[in-house]
Amino acid sequence: MSKVLVIAFAEQDGSLGKAALEALAAAKQLGGEFCAGVIGEKIDAAADMLAGAGAAKVFGVAGSDFAQPRYASDAAAAEAIAKAAGAEIIVAAGTSRWSRVAAGVAHRLGGQIDTHVTGLAVENDAPVVTRWYYRQRMMAQMTRAARPWVISVDPGSFAAWQGAPGSASIEAVDVTLGDAAKRTQVTGVRTPSSGQQTIRPEADVLFVAGAGWTKKQPDGQFHVAEAEKLILDFVDNAKASLGSSKSLVDQKGEGQAVLTCLSHLNQVGQTGSTPRHPKGLATCCHGEEPHVVGWRFITERRAINLDANCGWAQGKADVLYVADSFAVMEKVNALLAE
Ligand SMILES: Cc1cc2nc3c(=O)[nH]c(=O)nc-3n(C[C@H](O)[C@H](O)[C@H](O)COP(=O)(O)OP(=O)(O)OC[C@H]3O[C@@H](n4cnc5c(N)ncnc54)[C@H](O)[C@@H]3O)c2cc1C
Repeated sequence: MSKVLVIAFAEQDGSLGKAALEALAAAKQLGGEFCAGVIGEKIDAAADMLAGAGAAKVFGVAGSDFAQPRYASDAAAAEAIAKAAGAEIIVAAGTSRWSRVAAGVAHRLGGQIDTHVTGLAVENDAPVVTRWYYRQRMMAQMTRAARPWVISVDPGSFAAWQGAPGSASIEAVDVTLGDAAKRTQVTGVRTPSSGQQTIRPEADVLFVAGAGWTKKQPDGQFHVAEAEKLILDFVDNAKASLGSSKSLVDQKGEGQAVLTCLSHLNQVGQTGSTPRHPKGLATCCHGEEPHVVGWRFITERRAINLDANCGWAQGKADVLYVADSFAVMEKVNALLAE
């Protein structure tokens, strides 16, 4: 097997985040010996975790110049670590920080890269990666002869490595940055200005609201304010993540009655996101293919729709409740409040 290197960025407290621990678990699936490299302001706790996971060597680039994400310093550090390790297979978590530099690092090393990898195995003594194409409609398994081969794994695709930290003896890798490499400064972090944080990637349940919530209901009336309350009560009580269909968030631009808690950031689907959660519940949503393609990584799917012939009934959901979402969610919220 080729020489495997896991590269990770340390969190602000010096430890490893969940995505990095997932990438570590992914690399361990390749079997055999592996090395690790860690970059950050403080890296001791992260290095101990990597040692605890069995890294034969832990290379480190540490210091205030490497505290914040920045192309020039992150790429230089990753390149130096990969060269020091003589890495042939480089595995890292596809976080925004790594994704910014991953292709550049592969190019500097004269290697090749695959991103959005969701599975990793060994066949004929060589890694085989799984990834999806065409907005998660087609799955491919492939391998490459080129080395180094950089593999970015999608967060949420592997169970995070769990175990006791070891005691690393860090092999410091020297990276000297010129002034030009330090020009970019992160001056702050902005989060979306929607009043409430409703997108929770780590939640057990994804709750998806469809356009039906804002349509005339069987009594001939609109119940938009009631819909918003039912949805937010559920999302708060169940600590669920809130997704939406495109039709519902598009209504904002079309001047129709809208749910103010939703923006295009919540949109799930072909032109939206493909979140990862163990369970999902679609409500007042028709289950059309461009929407459902975003449910690829939702393990158990349920839907509530008045229409027994909706898209969810065409093999797209594990369970379809043919029912009124207003009535069902009112009852569910009452049970959750008990
Ligand atoms: C190129 C392209 C890209 C697209 N990308 C996306 C995408 O990323 N994401 C996306 O979502 N869509 C996408 N679409 C649009 C998609 O095809 C659908 O139009 C959209 O998902 C429909 O949204 P909906 O199901 O919320 O609304 P509707 O189709 O209007 O369905 C509303 C549903 O609510 C039900 N309903 C109403 N009242 C109740 C009630 N009280 N209880 C239970 N059920 C009720 C109705 O029976 C109906 O099935 C895309 C389309 C194209 C062409």
